[in-house]
Amino acid sequence: MSEATVQQMISSFIRQTRPCFRGGKAFRCHRRLLSTAAEVRQTEVTEPPPRWQPHTVPGDQPRAPPTRLQRLRNEPEPRQFSSFLTDNYAREHNYLRISVTERCNLRCTYCMPEEGVQLSPPAHLLTTPEIVYLSSVFVDQGVDKIRLTGGEPTVRKDIVNLMQQIGQLRNNGLKELCLTTNGISLYRKLDAMVDSGLTAVNLSLDTLSEGLFAIMTRRNGHSAVMKSMNRILEMNKMGAGIKLKINCVVMRGINEREIIPFVEMGKEQDLEVRFIEYMPFDGNKWSERKMLPYQEMLAIIREKYPSVGKATGHPNDTSKTYKVPGFVGRIGFITSMTDNFCGTCNRLRITSDGNLKVCLFGNAEVSLRDILRESNNGEPIDQEAMEAIKQVEMDRRQGLSSSTGALGVSRREAKLLDVIGMAVKRKKEKHAGMGELEHMENRPMILIGG
Ligand code: SAM
Ligand code: SF4
Ligand code: SF4
Repeated sequence: MSEATVQQMISSFIRQTRPCFRGGKAFRCHRRLLSTAAEVRQTEVTEPPPRWQPHTVPGDQPRAPPTRLQRLRNEPEPRQFSSFLTDNYAREHNYLRISVTERCNLRCTYCMPEEGVQLSPPAHLLTTPEIVYLSSVFVDQGVDKIRLTGGEPTVRKDIVNLMQQIGQLRNNGLKELCLTTNGISLYRKLDAMVDSGLTAVNLSLDTLSEGLFAIMTRRNGHSAVMKSMNRILEMNKMGAGIKLKINCVVMRGINEREIIPFVEMGKEQDLEVRFIEYMPFDGNKWSERKMLPYQEMLAIIREKYPSVGKATGHPNDTSKTYKVPGFVGRIGFITSMTDNFCGTCNRLRITSDGNLKVCLFGNAEVSLRDILRESNNGEPIDQEAMEAIKQVEMDRRQGLSSSTGALGVSRREAKLLDVIGMAVKRKKEKHAGMGELEHMENRPMILIGG
């Protein structure tokens, strides 16, 4: 076992048994306790804030009750960040994107070829217990934000159940549970997802015109997306606090006329529209001519709104954020092609067939699925098999603890962490530039997950 693994085991043990301070008293706790999203939502919906506040003496102000998001995040004590998730450029990867399906109910021209993509055999795809297990390994190492994506995540049959299980990892340090979706079949699942702890939705929408939607996505469904978006805004008015971003891929000659209408969506609505530079992936017929650089998009906005200006964002933001004075919403630009944001990259990806992809634009991948399945003769691990494996590990660890006094991580987890750590250390400083990217072999975007 490597020295790094031993160190990791020790810090993991210390973290799991560190004292918690609640109500002024210190006590040992294994998991942090949280109220469920369902409880939070119910309270906020059934108890609207009073219209009039009592007059208070300065210095004796009653504390505002925490919002649903604050309660879900349960801002933790700072913890030491995992060396396995820190790369050679000191980038700490606390954000994991998991693709939960290769399937999609749209065929966006910029994302995949018209004929669709070759799907993996079902046995090659991660099962729900495998996704939950991998999520827990990453959260234990310091990942505090997980985004489910795809393909289209909402077409996965058990997506709500999967979110419920991942949502439980809030007790281990997960703060954000996010979804990137085309919104077509989101509406019916939204309430249950919010109950599971959903904190943010990135909704892909490239046009406000029904006709152009059908051309760009090669399918109908514009009104279904709008219905989902409006439901999120409505839930937010009731206190759900879901961060809403609209992802809009801008292509020259196709939808750049929509930039202003999209900006104006934020006039009265609390959302962020993010204009994305068109990127090259296998099978999407990318050309530089069709790619509209963000400076051009900004110039289009400046013509109508000269006072548009920079807004402060988060250090790890992938987008440059702007605001039109007086508008409620914000605007963002994802400038992967003209001005990369690799220096502050904190993202890792797991594909639906279980590969860890440390960079969106790199074809280096390692299979976490194969390591996971070693304990199940290479077969997919269902719930029953997962319980059995955990039991064996527990027994082994208890045997270990009675002889050494330390619990430590399982062999499987140790091997996973070694492989993850090595892949993260191999991560390049930044992606190849334009001119090289379009010639690089990479998966189609639908098989990576945005
Ligand atoms: N199906 C979901 C959706 O569309 O939101 C999630 C997966 S999709 C691959 C994730 C994001 O990638 C979407 O916001 C989509 O607009 C973006 N995307 C896909 N192909 C792209 C490309 N060639 N250039 C830029 N963004 C792209
Ligand atoms: Fe499907 Fe999303 Fe790709 Fe569009 S961008 S084809 S919705 S995976
Ligand atoms: Fe991170 Fe790679 Fe994207 Fe750069 S290209 S921001 S390194 S994932």
